[in-house]
Amino acid sequence: MPGNKKQFWCTKLGKKRKSGGRAKGGSGRSGMVQCSKCGRMVPADKAKKYTRRVSTVDPQLARELRAQGSYIHTRRVTEYYCISCAVHTGKVQIRSASERKRKPRR
Ligand SMILES: [Zn+2]
Repeated sequence: MPGNKKQFWCTKLGKKRKSGGRAKGGSGRSGMVQCSKCGRMVPADKAKKYTRRVSTVDPQLARELRAQGSYIHTRRVTEYYCISCAVHTGKVQIRSASERKRKPRR
């Protein structure tokens, strides 16, 4: 029976995460962003977003200038990482099943 076969697979397959690794919730299709490491297109709610401040001034020189009371301009750089790149670069860690199910403490 072809219908039975389908049902067998549907019951067999489980979900690793309730959210499927996304922060989409009930909303529909989200926009795509490009991974800044490998260039893969990732859904915006799935990608890991990191914002860091970057200065063009040499850090040692910047420290001296700051000590003299000058303002050093820094610009914000926003990077998106796909899950594989975030894991590879150590930005997120692989968690065990019990750790995944546990609610994060705030
Ligand atoms: Zn990537």
